[in-house]
Amino acid sequence: MTSSISPKIAIVGYGSQGRAHALNLRDSGFDVTVGLRPGGPTEAKAQADGFVVKAPADAVKDADLVAVLTPDMVQKKLYDDVLAANMKPGSVLLFAHGLNVHFGMISPREDLDVVLVAPKGPGALVRREYEIGRGVPCIYAVHQDKSGKAEEFALAYAGGLGGARANIISTTFKEETETDLFGEQAVLCGGASSLVQAGFETLVEAGYQPEIAYYEVLHELKLIVDLFYEGGITRMLEFISETAQYGDFVSGPRVIDASVKARMKDVLTDIQNGTFTRNWQAEYDAGLPNYRKFQQADKDHPIEKVGKELRAKMVWLQANAAQPDTDDANAKRTAAA
Ligand code: NAD
Ligand code: MG
Repeated sequence: MTSSISPKIAIVGYGSQGRAHALNLRDSGFDVTVGLRPGGPTEAKAQADGFVVKAPADAVKDADLVAVLTPDMVQKKLYDDVLAANMKPGSVLLFAHGLNVHFGMISPREDLDVVLVAPKGPGALVRREYEIGRGVPCIYAVHQDKSGKAEEFALAYAGGLGGARANIISTTFKEETETDLFGEQAVLCGGASSLVQAGFETLVEAGYQPEIAYYEVLHELKLIVDLFYEGGITRMLEFISETAQYGDFVSGPRVIDASVKARMKDVLTDIQNGTFTRNWQAEYDAGLPNYRKFQQADKDHPIEKVGKELRAKMVWLQANAAQPDTDDANAKRTAAA
């Protein structure tokens, strides 16, 4: 740990991020208590990992720093009903995503420091990288600095997560929130899965075997993304054939053309002006009717069936399979919570 401050930490929520943060911070020498609703779905897991688990109101009472790691859509109620009344005067309120503060759903008490520490990776990776002595890059921001030490608290927390071993970059709640939403919508989750499905459909509709299509547009994507990750697009180009490179140059921009970029800008505008968050909140409040429909459609897509059959034959995949950290898994837990 690089910082000398060692706040007593309460982690509220023990899902993807909560578990990874709690374990890494404890291993880094912090005093960590976990706050969960008694009888909730992750209580047993936190206890099995050796944590003292208390109801959120009790867990945060004597904490110097409270990390809010519940799903975004329950954070306002949690803050308004529990945290606002129970957090110690002058303590630190920490988020892993700026959504609720940036869009004004949560207005934190004036005596609190309010910070953000967002690892740029799912919780399972935050834990795995820490265990092997590396770290996931973290970005941090300060929304409210009552103590004059808010940045120091954020850096101590990020360091305890293992982020210092990788890279820690300063940002703002606005930048983190808007870029995080854009990334997951346009490129990482929404963009990538729709690209894969469209590629699969194109091949299968043209009469090619689904098994071959699966390998071409989904399975091999990992090999390409690993090269991006290691050395950018340059490294990917070094590893593919001249023919593949020429095809990349002439056909990539035909598929992802200016009209796609224009729609990406529309997506970004909806994020920036709060339309996306308003719609998501309304959907959540209505009990997720469309969300469930979309989720089912993804699960029912023909690429899932053929993928399941093919993956069963690739035994090495089972051993390395990550725990579900997706928003799907989050929503399932939320629904079950
Ligand atoms: P999650 O759905 O995996 O886990 C949520 C946890 O909160 C569970 O333990 C659940 O039982 C608990 N919970 C639900 N409602 C609660 C309540 N009312 N009171 C107390 N506990 C409650 O969540 P997650 O994906 O880890 O997301 C947590 C935060 O981290 C969010 O702000 C999210 O945006 C952010 N984040 C997530 C990721 C990711 O990869 N999943 C990455 C970066 C940041
Ligand atoms: Mg995100």
